[in-house]
Amino acid sequence: MTVLPADRIARVEGWGMAVGADGYLVQPTDVEQVTEILGAARSAGAPIVARGAGCSYGDAAFLPEGLVLDFSRMRQVLVWDPATGIVDVEPGVTVRQLWRQTLPDGWWPPVVTGTMEPTLGGGLAMNVHGKNNWARGPMGDHCIELDLLTPDGTLRTISRDIEPEVFHAVIGGFGQLGLITRARIQLKKVHSGFIEAKAVATPDLGELLQQIDDAKDDWEYVVGWLDAFPGGSKLGRGLLHFARHLSPDEDPDPAASLEPTNQDLPSTLFGVVPKSVLWRMMKPFTNDLGMRAINLAKYIQGSTIGNNAVYRQTLAGFSFLLDYVPDWKKVYLPGGLIHHQSFVPVAHAERVFRAQLEICRRRGMPSYLAVLKRHRPDPFLLTHAVDGFSMALDFPVVKSRREELWAMVRELAEPVVEAGGRFYPAKDAALPGELYRATFGEGQLDRFHALKQRLDPDGVLRSALADRLLGG
Ligand SMILES: Cc1cc2nc3c(=O)[nH]c(=O)nc-3n(C[C@H](O)[C@H](O)[C@H](O)COP(=O)(O)OP(=O)(O)OC[C@H]3O[C@@H](n4cnc5c(N)ncnc54)[C@H](O)[C@@H]3O)c2cc1C
Repeated sequence: MTVLPADRIARVEGWGMAVGADGYLVQPTDVEQVTEILGAARSAGAPIVARGAGCSYGDAAFLPEGLVLDFSRMRQVLVWDPATGIVDVEPGVTVRQLWRQTLPDGWWPPVVTGTMEPTLGGGLAMNVHGKNNWARGPMGDHCIELDLLTPDGTLRTISRDIEPEVFHAVIGGFGQLGLITRARIQLKKVHSGFIEAKAVATPDLGELLQQIDDAKDDWEYVVGWLDAFPGGSKLGRGLLHFARHLSPDEDPDPAASLEPTNQDLPSTLFGVVPKSVLWRMMKPFTNDLGMRAINLAKYIQGSTIGNNAVYRQTLAGFSFLLDYVPDWKKVYLPGGLIHHQSFVPVAHAERVFRAQLEICRRRGMPSYLAVLKRHRPDPFLLTHAVDGFSMALDFPVVKSRREELWAMVRELAEPVVEAGGRFYPAKDAALPGELYRATFGEGQLDRFHALKQRLDPDGVLRSALADRLLGG
């Protein structure tokens, strides 16, 4: 079999479409093929970048002139045990595939992202978090064991008991220490396909953070949206959404609500407009003026008729809000979008986020979508979580202001470093490497580099992101 198909050159981009590069795409279907590709790449001295569904916003899953090892064809659920909720998956199984298979048996992935498209391999490599990071930790906390294939062709099973140091570095190690070829994950028991949610409006950033903190022990899911446009006393005004799973006696027909087809998001708006055309209708509003108006309208709706509303929603509807409008990212074409997510300890969060929102206002580059979450520390070596809050910001990329935007990301990041915060590589495209490296404590990166030296001494596994953040 030819495993280094030089004829398959493809342009590979980050999800935000703002950064990308040409690479050689290979799509193995089993571990044997992956091993063969690794061996061939090693002897050819060709670097490899692993790729799941390509949902990382920036440069995590491509490498200029690299061999892009795309796991999307390794997507079998290998073992599913509805009695225990333990599942073994190939790395290309997506969050969507997983919940659709397990929900009818009453099991839900304990950590899901705002879209259901990521793979489990990519999710573990970035150690993704959900709206319940405070309550449940990141995806890695629910991983029982992994099969890891290293460039020398060794396939090892790792866990909290077997090679724990490697296990805690591979999860969140953005594909730099080996390739995840199987994962065993413990799912969470649920008794209904509905959750109960509550929406609350908050007038400013301080109140928004306080309410998130107050709610974090009472609700499974807590997420804040904020309007990044206004300043002064309205800076950081927003809406909070809390949600909890239902207990066994609260859903009269759990078999129906757990049925995946009853979870499906509607394919039309108001039963008429196909959602596939919605992004085109949104495009004329994707500019500062339009987004200011949309953010204002959302806040007015949420702070009047929507305030304090308690409602039931499907698990998929609540969890995967960002899948509601298919292809919505295309509103950002031709430049695409970048994303910046900082994690800041509780004591400094309000000050740092306030400064970041002011920087965006001063530079005239407001975030079009801003989201707050509460986090807790976790035991993974390159963890991005702290006992604190994160603020995630989307920015449109306009060609004429691209350099200014990249410079602004540096300015946004500086107060985070000073406050002892962290950054989320999965969503990053523009962070200067020295600022990323400055967030780690004594010896942390040295331990990672030592593992890299042991598991991948020839540096076969790379990515544009790893070169930018870990190199130098
Ligand atoms: C709309 C949207 C919403 C999102 N919401 C959230 C959110 O709520 N929380 C959150 O934490 N993240 C969120 N993300 C980010 C996303 O979940 C992560 O970027 C995730 O890693 C993407 O998974 P993927 O399968 O697409 O991996 P890719 O983006 O393709 O790859 C991610 C990384 O994993 C590595 N990798 C992939 N497969 C393997 C493997 N088998 N072995 C070793 N390394 C591998 C790649 O080299 C790369 O470094 C969101 C993304 C989008 C687009």
